[in-house]
Amino acid sequence: MKPFAYLRPTSAAEAVAAFTAAGTGARYIAGGTTLYDLMKLGIERPEQLIDVTAIRGLDRIDTGGDRLRFEALAPMSLVAADKVVGRDYPVLAEALAKAASQQLRNMATVGGNLLQRTRCLYFRNGTGNPSSVGTYPCNKREPGAGCAAIGGLDRGQAVLGQSEDCTAVSPGDWPVALTAMDASVEVLGPSGARTIAIANLYRLPGSTPHLEFTLAPGEMITAITVPKTQAGRRSTYHKIRDRESYAFALASAAVALDMDGERVTRARIALGGVATRPWRATEAERMLAGQSLTAAAALAAGHAAFAGARPGRLNGFKIELGARVVADALMIAVRRSA
Ligand SMILES: Cc1cc2nc3c(=O)[nH]c(=O)nc-3n(C[C@H](O)[C@H](O)[C@H](O)COP(=O)(O)OP(=O)(O)OC[C@H]3O[C@@H](n4cnc5c(N)ncnc54)[C@H](O)[C@@H]3O)c2cc1C
Repeated sequence: MKPFAYLRPTSAAEAVAAFTAAGTGARYIAGGTTLYDLMKLGIERPEQLIDVTAIRGLDRIDTGGDRLRFEALAPMSLVAADKVVGRDYPVLAEALAKAASQQLRNMATVGGNLLQRTRCLYFRNGTGNPSSVGTYPCNKREPGAGCAAIGGLDRGQAVLGQSEDCTAVSPGDWPVALTAMDASVEVLGPSGARTIAIANLYRLPGSTPHLEFTLAPGEMITAITVPKTQAGRRSTYHKIRDRESYAFALASAAVALDMDGERVTRARIALGGVATRPWRATEAERMLAGQSLTAAAALAAGHAAFAGARPGRLNGFKIELGARVVADALMIAVRRSA
């Protein structure tokens, strides 16, 4: 691993100032469950680590106001186990509880989870040997190098949102649930504080797949907020993976429903494991508005969610799998009482 300097500031303002002083070689580190991995693989090579875990008052969970508010350093496991979140917003609790393992969730933070990088084999080099970084071309790792995943072993890759330069899947579960629930992300940076709608945090790969997030250099996530809604009670996060104990999603769906009697007044649907960013299935949402949610209507909505999907060589199965995951999620959510 390349040598790096290490700082542990005790306030967010101090952390941002340290990042600004260090420049492009700086990285924030929270639980370290992704960043240390990438450093060991030689993919991330920071010169300055700014450990944010000593910042006081940045790990609180507040479910009392008109919004849920999760500070960036709250461990994933604590938010997953929160009684109010579990009862009123199962989609959020389930997305966290189905991510990684209990040990990882104890270390990992809800802020760090939003910025984890793709698990694409070619991005991560495939060999696991830092001295052979670059064995496989990857535009995300090295802009302009090419993409070995396109036409390669693409079973895990995206079927939605790919470009000619990148087909890597956005890996997180939590961002998918937050996307369905119209969450916002509070950040603090060299130019001050601002709030970003989660839908605007993630970029499509286009011709610049190395640019994954819309954060400006030095911007630090301080909190995530979620508007309160009755639809939270009729919600779920449904995830299909190769190994049930823990693994990233092959296909997942976050769903929340507003109902008037038997009819859906508004459906929120976001997809994971199938797209290059957390993916809002707006066409499927529109289709369900005003409908009774029968199994047939749910499956039709699932297929609508994948109408624009483009399979690669080995991942065509994700289209039917994903449609059925959406359908099953809708039927799980509708059976929950508001
Ligand atoms: C074996 C394994 C299995 C996993 N399975 C899953 C899974 O099924 N689903 C899933 O969703 N995730 C999974 N993960 C990923 C895991 O959830 C993430 O590693 C974790 O959430 C990252 O949080 P962290 O606090 O450790 O982030 P770190 O590793 O500390 O940081 C991650 C990134 O975020 C940046 N960062 C961290 N905090 C901040 C902040 N406050 N402001 C700005 N930037 C920040 C860092 O610079 C870094 O780029 C898995 C990980 C492993 C190792």
